[in-house]
Amino acid sequence: MIDRAALTRNILIGMGAGLLIGSVVHALSLAADNPLLVYGINGIFDIGGKVFIASLKLLVVPLVFVSLACGASNLSDGSSIGRVGAKAIGLYLITTAIAVTLALTIANVVNPGIGINLAAGSEFIPKEAPALKDVIINIVPTNPIDAMAQGNMLQIIVFAILIGVAIAKCGEPGLRVRATLNNWNEVIMRLIMMLMSVAPLGVFCLMVTLFANMGFSTIADLLKYFLTVAGVLVLHFLLTYSALVRFLANLNPVTFYKKFAPVMAYAFSTSSSNATLPVTLENVEHRLGVKNEVAAFTIPLGATINMDGTAIMQGVATVFIAQAFNIDISMTGYLMVVMTATLASIGTAGVPGVGLITLALVLQQVGLPVEGIALIIGVDRLLDMMRTAVNVSGDAAISTVVAKSEGKFDQTVLEQRD
Ligand code: ASP
Repeated sequence: MIDRAALTRNILIGMGAGLLIGSVVHALSLAADNPLLVYGINGIFDIGGKVFIASLKLLVVPLVFVSLACGASNLSDGSSIGRVGAKAIGLYLITTAIAVTLALTIANVVNPGIGINLAAGSEFIPKEAPALKDVIINIVPTNPIDAMAQGNMLQIIVFAILIGVAIAKCGEPGLRVRATLNNWNEVIMRLIMMLMSVAPLGVFCLMVTLFANMGFSTIADLLKYFLTVAGVLVLHFLLTYSALVRFLANLNPVTFYKKFAPVMAYAFSTSSSNATLPVTLENVEHRLGVKNEVAAFTIPLGATINMDGTAIMQGVATVFIAQAFNIDISMTGYLMVVMTATLASIGTAGVPGVGLITLALVLQQVGLPVEGIALIIGVDRLLDMMRTAVNVSGDAAISTVVAKSEGKFDQTVLEQRD
């Protein structure tokens, strides 16, 4: 048995120590060929961090398939799957829209881009957005093995649900397949626990490498933008998610945050909702008390489509770029930003830095120059870490709310002491 309290403490220590040591190394401004950089930071620590992320990622596809097929087979009737899906998707969209609105409002008060004064580039050519029709058709995989090989999460989700429903309807053979899948689920969960025991070291390696190589000088130039995004992330995290957990799930938000904290450390150090997915799912089921039937569906779906942190960055960035280029956004423009940032965050893959790419969609929608993205790239690495932690927290909060409303929640698990 893992000592959870000690593990959480060690992960946070690993994160803090990595951040500190990395920052010190960065402050030393060593020459690029310095052996400490070549063999240490960009050698051993980089290898350690990358191996850790790879070992988390390797679990994502088998975990989502097995866990969701199990969950769907236990939810047996189609109507409860539909209800869980509708509630989760509805809440994901609403919270993301709240996140962007909060970002736009605060950015308009702080005015992070005023005084930067840049002229819009003339060679701005909007790219064509993918047709909605294709997006919908592509949700159903033509070849599930290919979907798994590509890591196409929505297609894997659809396939797993179909298999789960068929298992539930299949009588005796279905029961045998379900028993096998349940056994596999146990095995994969055990593998996640095994990996978690080395997480403090993995997180430490990631943080040392990141912070040793991170340029802080740009943060000083963009301090107002940086602080606005960070502030809105914290606000949304504390206000919106606490309200969800308190009023919709009738649970104590402090207990929720305490139990969920280690997952945020993973998200922060990997900057990837996808890589964090195995840990999120394990935590939501075994520490927060959401039953597998709901967690196995809502968490992978959330890691794919629910990105409140990303939407917040996009909201603030839009205002920042408009102000920097002295372009006014109308009220209708702001409504478009809320809509497109919500959709863009759905289309943002849960991997590092993609939020900045989908920001182009939002900017184009309101006629802002896409070149503006270049202004904020310098500080995006650190913001990406922070927004990913918010992204995964939103998934967990909504999974908890949905589970509670469906009677698929075990409060004793949440209240259990470590
Ligand atoms: N890194 C984010 C995530 O994985 C996505 C992004 O905003 O770039 O959740």
